[in-house]
Amino acid sequence: MIKKIDIQQEMYSQILGKELFEQAKSYTYAYMDGVHERNVFPNDEAIKNLVVFDEPFPAMSINPTELLRMLHEYGSPATVTQTGGRYFGFVTGSSVPSALAAKWLSDVWDQNTALYVMSPISSQLEATCEKWLVDLLGLPAGTGAGFVTGSSTANLCGLAAGRNELLNRQGWDVNVDGLFDAPKLRVVLGGQAHATIFKALALLGLGKSRVEIVPTDNQGRMIVDEMPESCLVITQAGNVNTGAFDPIDEICDLARRVNAWVHVDGAFGLWAAGSRTKKILTQGIDKADSWAVDAHKTLNAPYDSGIILCKHSEILVAAMQATAAYIPHGEQRDGMHYTPEMSRRGRVVELWATLKFLGKDGVEELVDRLCDHAKRFAENLRAEGFRILNDVVFNQVLVACDSPEHTKVTLENIQKSGECWCGGSVWNGEPVIRISVCSWATTVADVERSVAAFVNARDRAIFP
Ligand SMILES: *Cc1c(COP(=O)(O)O)cnc(C)c1O
Repeated sequence: MIKKIDIQQEMYSQILGKELFEQAKSYTYAYMDGVHERNVFPNDEAIKNLVVFDEPFPAMSINPTELLRMLHEYGSPATVTQTGGRYFGFVTGSSVPSALAAKWLSDVWDQNTALYVMSPISSQLEATCEKWLVDLLGLPAGTGAGFVTGSSTANLCGLAAGRNELLNRQGWDVNVDGLFDAPKLRVVLGGQAHATIFKALALLGLGKSRVEIVPTDNQGRMIVDEMPESCLVITQAGNVNTGAFDPIDEICDLARRVNAWVHVDGAFGLWAAGSRTKKILTQGIDKADSWAVDAHKTLNAPYDSGIILCKHSEILVAAMQATAAYIPHGEQRDGMHYTPEMSRRGRVVELWATLKFLGKDGVEELVDRLCDHAKRFAENLRAEGFRILNDVVFNQVLVACDSPEHTKVTLENIQKSGECWCGGSVWNGEPVIRISVCSWATTVADVERSVAAFVNARDRAIFP
């Protein structure tokens, strides 16, 4: 009989022999080699085969080569090809290869980035990225950054900082006294605010229905003429449908007069600040108080990578406060003081690798290229008789056919085609096909091939 201890030793010796990693590497290369031609969305067979994973928890340990094989055989075909060049769903970025390679290495490091003493390299890279992002985005000196999973969490952190500071100014300490009996806090936002904003407001005890929603124009931009004293204002740099930017400059000027806190949800749009031709869209962002941005969208860092930036670093740290006898507050950067989590993986390595690889020129070129592709999409689709419902100012395009029914069936056909993938949305009460160009890998040929898939999907649409 093989004893448990023997099995474990066997497993470890395999790891030491690096066979597992060689096996994983060969699967990885096979996936990479096929990425441009495989179905963008898994076919029916691949989805059906996922049933192999629906098994009871195994009683015994297995040879790890077997589980890797299972992942490759049944997992790889059921992935969505967001690293190809023809995935335009949601606002989902790809990953630049240099960052992916850096991620491999840092995965092997397996660092916990809570504290400097737990990972000096991660702390250094966080400090470096904080400085670079402030420079790239043109934010005020002294701005602090927390490295989180995505903009959902970044929005939560920014709104927590704003809530606490506004109440602090009225002599109320939320951290100590909670929200019951606190002075009233007014929250102002546009009717087109992202769903994650409402989620954050709910989690923060600010109530998603007691907010004051200001009207928006036909592109989804906030129309703000006045503002209550000391309110929390939530603006958007990049509407998830149209890509439009709120008039942040004007909003910040109004906010300054009434001592408001301005948070910018710039999940994918804030990167416009890195391009000389797109910067105008983010005019005035340096006057805001907090900003949320995703590196895993427009910047093409691997998942998951969001950043909360706060003009007053100490306000963010106070809002994320965590203390215990064993937690040092040292001279060096301790990442956990800027985020809700304590233990975190070293996602900053990939962010650093992306920024270091691209440089300022590369970021600008990437942002401009995504926007150019979006424009090309709009022009080519218009020429093919589609309607384009938004002003294409950034990377988003809203497309419709002649009737809502035709649009819906066309979208279904596109999604099933395997040629490219787009999501749907509703704009001004009408169903639309939403294109988000977010991948560094997208080429002019990918746009043309996708436009052809749109035409094909529309022309063979059968609907009542
Ligand atoms: C994607 C997005 C979010 C949510 O970000 P996650 O990274 O998915 O958490 C918030 N706001 C906007 C405008 C977005 O595009």
